[in-house]
Amino acid sequence: MELFNTLGRKTERFKPIKEGTVTLYTCGPTVYNYAHIGNLRTMIFFDLVRRAFEFNGYRVKHIMNITDVDDKTIKGSAEMRVSLKEFTELYTGYFFEDLEKLNVEKAGKYTKATDNIEEMQKIILKLMKEGYAYEADDGIYYNVSKFKDYGKLSGMKINGKYSRISNDEYDKENAADFALWKYWDVNDGEVFWTGKLKKGRPGWHIECSAMSLKYLGKTIDVHCGAVDLIFPHHENEIAQSEAYTKQRFVNYWVHGEHLLVNGQKMSKSQHNFYTLRDLEQQGFNPLAFRLMILDSSYRNKLDFTFESLKRYEKTLKKIDISIKALNKIEKYEEKEDNLSRMNLKEKTESLLEEFKKAVNNDLDTHTSLSHFFAVLDLIDSRVNNGRVDRKEFETLRDAVAKMNDFLGVYVNYQIPQEIIDMTEKREALRKTRKFAEADGLRREIEEKGYSIIDLQDNFVLVKKYNE
Ligand SMILES: [Zn+2]
Repeated sequence: MELFNTLGRKTERFKPIKEGTVTLYTCGPTVYNYAHIGNLRTMIFFDLVRRAFEFNGYRVKHIMNITDVDDKTIKGSAEMRVSLKEFTELYTGYFFEDLEKLNVEKAGKYTKATDNIEEMQKIILKLMKEGYAYEADDGIYYNVSKFKDYGKLSGMKINGKYSRISNDEYDKENAADFALWKYWDVNDGEVFWTGKLKKGRPGWHIECSAMSLKYLGKTIDVHCGAVDLIFPHHENEIAQSEAYTKQRFVNYWVHGEHLLVNGQKMSKSQHNFYTLRDLEQQGFNPLAFRLMILDSSYRNKLDFTFESLKRYEKTLKKIDISIKALNKIEKYEEKEDNLSRMNLKEKTESLLEEFKKAVNNDLDTHTSLSHFFAVLDLIDSRVNNGRVDRKEFETLRDAVAKMNDFLGVYVNYQIPQEIIDMTEKREALRKTRKFAEADGLRREIEEKGYSIIDLQDNFVLVKKYNE
């Protein structure tokens, strides 16, 4: 499997630290708002990295952090007049809902920054002791000039003069000493920790160093994020972690590009800022958005327009029809035409082989999708003509299922018949406007561990998250 490594800027053959296992850390959301579709493109990218490893038979140990304390979450909770915990739990819940709708696999563990303060303090104390960090009036800062490899990921140079910065997100043009621990001030309200350091709270960058180390070890295989995190966030993570452990922090840095909207950077003031809820309200299936992301390379900027989303919505419906046709087969013809069966098998196997090559070519999702569609064409031509026999059916079914393990463009859960029956009954009740009964049934379904997501003209069943 080949991946483009930002560290060194070249495509490299992947070699794990431990045979058969991949340690993967992905920089998770700051939970101060609904995720916008640009954030969600990144989450789908993470999902594809992880699924690509699984497709190749690796066991993936995947950690994602939830940033539930930083400048933005504190400001947001103060504005809403709720505690930081209540505020961040609200948006964490919405975030998980979005992932579920986009068929993003659950990470092995989601870990909150506020649950790992002790580890952060431990790192900060050692960095101070060894001269990598120093105390200022308002907190503890990392001295970037002390770390000789500073800039090795981003190419950012430290030029004689540089400043000190307490904000979590800062100037992308200049290196600066950054805050590891910020002493409490009145804006922080109830948000502070004490422990081994003076009353305060962690900076954003130290969170990821601490959580990666705690859950995955000193050196990990892969660390992912969006391109805007290369500097300063990931550069700072390297400086903290490598000064602390004296070992290489990450072997492969893999970064996903941004999403534009109508050719522009997304921003609230430009009125081109969309969440998944906005797309759903316009009647789109979240998986159409996933399909759009898959159709382009994670390393290219992608321009989102509603026009193109409409095309993917149509494609998604076609996928749905083919998969349903495949699943509805109850009778098989036993044909004597062995030649046609062999041809189909050979053709399908070669498509699967090409598919795998594309996945392993730095996640060429666009090409892998085209092979998936070629198998769907085979399904359409065989199944819809009633020309399928059992062996052909199994060949096709196994191929699309295997491809979908990576693509995740249709929901592949094995849902018990009982739940399907209940859902259909609920649909019927809703259509006859018996909403109270329908809601009762929905609750019953939820009690059995499933949740229903209603879409415009379709419905999707998904398994509940077990937190
Ligand atoms: Zn991070």
